[in-house]
Amino acid sequence: MNKEVPGRIISMIKKKCPNCHIGDMYTNKSIFPLGKMMDMPERCPHCGQKYELETGFWFGTGYISYGLSVGIVIALAVLFHLVYGFSWKDNSVFIFLGIMVSILAILQPYLMRISRVIYLYIFVKYDKGTSLKKC
Ligand SMILES: [Zn+2]
Repeated sequence: MNKEVPGRIISMIKKKCPNCHIGDMYTNKSIFPLGKMMDMPERCPHCGQKYELETGFWFGTGYISYGLSVGIVIALAVLFHLVYGFSWKDNSVFIFLGIMVSILAILQPYLMRISRVIYLYIFVKYDKGTSLKKC
């Protein structure tokens, strides 16, 4: 395998094209400005892989985002239980809800972006040939 091309997980974290692992999936590397955080080129700038495979393709990212959110809530609940502990005798449940909602609100832009990446990686497989190609 070509050492210059990162693996699947690294490429997903860096939000690279699933086909070549080189081209960026998002126009902006950062989530700021928030209004443009979901801007994507129509095709991969390196290999030409189409990103929105069909009209309404991104609808399915809602399920990925939901799954990730549930996972985060469960992880937070376990962490909160270990650090603070749940009890019906005090306000710990409400403190947990406040912390959970705050953290999910802060993470939401990242969840939306990574959900699209994960969703596209499910449908588009890595093609070694296109990543070796010079553009
Ligand atoms: Zn590509």
